[in-house]
Amino acid sequence: MPRTTSGSTAGRRDDLIPGDVLSALADLDVEILGDDGDNVRIRCPAHLSRTGKVDRRPSCYVHTGSGQFICFSCEWAGSFARFVAFMQSTDSAHANAWIASKGTIGRALRLLKGDGRHREVEPGEPVSEAQMVLFTTPPEAARRKRGLTLEACEKFGVRWDLTRRCWILPIRTAEGQLLGWQEKSKRHFRNYPDGVSKGETLFGAHIDFDGPLVLVESPLDAVRLYSAGIEGGRATFGAHVSREQMSLALGTADTIVLAQDNDAAGRSARAKLYYAYRCKGSVLKYWHYLDTGAKDPGEMTDEEIRACYEASYTPLRRRLKQSAAYRVTQVQS
Ligand SMILES: [Zn+2]
Repeated sequence: MPRTTSGSTAGRRDDLIPGDVLSALADLDVEILGDDGDNVRIRCPAHLSRTGKVDRRPSCYVHTGSGQFICFSCEWAGSFARFVAFMQSTDSAHANAWIASKGTIGRALRLLKGDGRHREVEPGEPVSEAQMVLFTTPPEAARRKRGLTLEACEKFGVRWDLTRRCWILPIRTAEGQLLGWQEKSKRHFRNYPDGVSKGETLFGAHIDFDGPLVLVESPLDAVRLYSAGIEGGRATFGAHVSREQMSLALGTADTIVLAQDNDAAGRSARAKLYYAYRCKGSVLKYWHYLDTGAKDPGEMTDEEIRACYEASYTPLRRRLKQSAAYRVTQVQS
């Protein structure tokens, strides 16, 4: 990550959010070049000073709910107060005062933005969709690193936390109700809220698809599969697969491909699932890791993912074939 021009942090906890981000941008003489519903596209004002070049293909986005911004080209990002401070060549205290003078977002939403977003909710207390809105579209650099397309991220409702630089993977019921999310980066992992009942649903359970369901451990692997052209990836949010998750999968697809991680724990979990659920109506297959050496589908190229998927096999049939061959050799000897 490039250092920021001022060397300051990307935004402070108590930074204010304008009540109306669009009119605040207008007051700052910022031209709106596009609008995707959640974000507006603008020319990156810091581009010239950060890179020595003007932002020819405008790639800076401002979230109209949270006011957070990011330039996907030079990676300048942060709170709206930081944006204001840059535009007015002032410090964050003056920037916040300016935002306050324009009218800030309601106190409740401000709480969500600060402590509220990562605040511990009481068991049973609903998680609000407004909390999701405060995250942003995953940046291109982060998506590229994991081979995830924007379309796939949008399909699964994957978001990004600019402050923690982590993935936000929503946990929803099959009916689409938001229960919470997983926060994930190399250094950081947690389920939010603590004790969220992720075992009662599958990542992506609310999205319709045709064809086999591919059961993976990690939500990002499901998004990775979709990015490689395989729609049916659904994740169990971890190595453990609950009975509820299996019945959800069985009720959704005629064929389930078990794609647990390619390690001893994954193989053992896969075999247990196979023998427990093979007579429950859907055809169960094993994902074939071929000779990729990958630990999970997330480590594979698009071609490898498609080849491994095509090579999925029914373990029982293979065993029958082997014993048939065994019988033949016995007869011959
Ligand atoms: Zn820029």
